[in-house]
Amino acid sequence: MSFYITTAIDYVNAQPHLGHAYEKISTDVLARHKRQRGEDVFFLTGTDEHGEPVADAARDQGIEPRVLADRNAERFKKLAARLNVSNDFFIRTTDPQHETMVQEVLLRVYRNGHVYKGIYEGWYCPRCADFKVENEILEGNLCPIHEIPLTRESEENWFFRLSSFQERLVRLYAEQPDFVMPRHHYNEALSFIDSGLQDVSLSRAKLKWGVQVPWDPSHVFYVWFDALLNYYTALTYARAGEDLTARYWPATYHVIGKDILKFHTVYWPALLMAAELDLPHHVFVHGFLLGADGRKMSKSLGNVLDPFEVLDQFGTDALRFYLMRDVPFGADGAVGMAAVRTRYDTELANEYGNLASRTIAMIARYTNGHIPDVATDSALASEFDVLPAEVAAVLDRADPTRALDLIWHRVRRLNRYVEERSPWELARSPDDADRLRETLASLGEGLRAVSVLLHPYMPETTERLLGALGSPATEFDRALFAEHGSGARISPLEPLFPKQ
Ligand SMILES: [Zn+2]
Repeated sequence: MSFYITTAIDYVNAQPHLGHAYEKISTDVLARHKRQRGEDVFFLTGTDEHGEPVADAARDQGIEPRVLADRNAERFKKLAARLNVSNDFFIRTTDPQHETMVQEVLLRVYRNGHVYKGIYEGWYCPRCADFKVENEILEGNLCPIHEIPLTRESEENWFFRLSSFQERLVRLYAEQPDFVMPRHHYNEALSFIDSGLQDVSLSRAKLKWGVQVPWDPSHVFYVWFDALLNYYTALTYARAGEDLTARYWPATYHVIGKDILKFHTVYWPALLMAAELDLPHHVFVHGFLLGADGRKMSKSLGNVLDPFEVLDQFGTDALRFYLMRDVPFGADGAVGMAAVRTRYDTELANEYGNLASRTIAMIARYTNGHIPDVATDSALASEFDVLPAEVAAVLDRADPTRALDLIWHRVRRLNRYVEERSPWELARSPDDADRLRETLASLGEGLRAVSVLLHPYMPETTERLLGALGSPATEFDRALFAEHGSGARISPLEPLFPKQ
């Protein structure tokens, strides 16, 4: 089965921040999990590089837009690498292959009769690079997202007949109730459609920094149409000499932030209909990360959590874990350095890290460095039986936070098991030798099974631990708690989460 998942592409007029990291990590967890299950996964991320805001930022710095785009695209690539994100391709919308394919698809939209020339006049947010319709404008004529004043703009544009897709979009939403998830964002998108769609500007006449309109070279495409098409165009050139569209299109999941809901849940399906392309299965909308005080992060409030600071101090897996653990996926959540430290100390170091080092130390000491090859504790095993299926079901509904919670309950269960069985007591009496062996076989097996399930969240740490347990395999069917201890030879393990 093929599984095609995308993040939004990041706009290169700014620096990478925690929101970018969060979206990439959550998408990566879903992609890695699907790979564990043997699905044919393609995971795309990248950068959005055209449009007015990039041209303006470059002009302010006295450089060419291309130079700015190159520089900032590199920063986003580096962030993805540091987050250990397993994307299969990194698209840049300035890739010539992307530009050619955008022209090809939009020319088809034009020939299909969905485009006309007209005068556009409206309230425009330069930061969004978007005209705002009356019912979304904030009091005082402000952008609903940036809360900055809108400007009155008018120009001759090519228009996309979005209004003519109203009925088809309403039908799509009726037939696919999980087209947009979670539900409150589905309702928000549908009510936007129900309020009546207006045609939207497809091109810009004043701007040079964009993809040229093939039937009118004095215009470039409006950056959003160029950007949205990345999800499709990437498949046509991500692998040299190969067209992956038959294999992966349509996308299974587009993961996006709620600030770009309208583009992905209204414009995008309409554009695909106009181009006679299949529609994605789901658009998953995550929330915003807020400062620890619950307010929007801003430098002036001093509540910004810098992903690089967390990475430097606690490491990649700790950041991945923290964001998936602390912010319910799909909702807004407050984040801060103090909370990172608490999760690190109490859960990663004391619960998981300590379970790992205790288990390995006891196996080294009491059973000669081998996980006993004896029957595991069937009562304990029964508490783990349903776990892999539960985790898979929850992740199929794009809920990495809930899945992590289910796994973490078992991490805690194993710690309680250590206390209940007190292997150090059992080791004192030869009569308890069998019980000691059963205990250590069960602990080794439980630790191995939860680590396979934690692998998508913390790939480096779990690989180290599974290696030390002598069972490096991370395929999903290995998450089952076996009836027998593995018999594997363990090897020494440095603390997984050292004291900071
Ligand atoms: Zn705006």
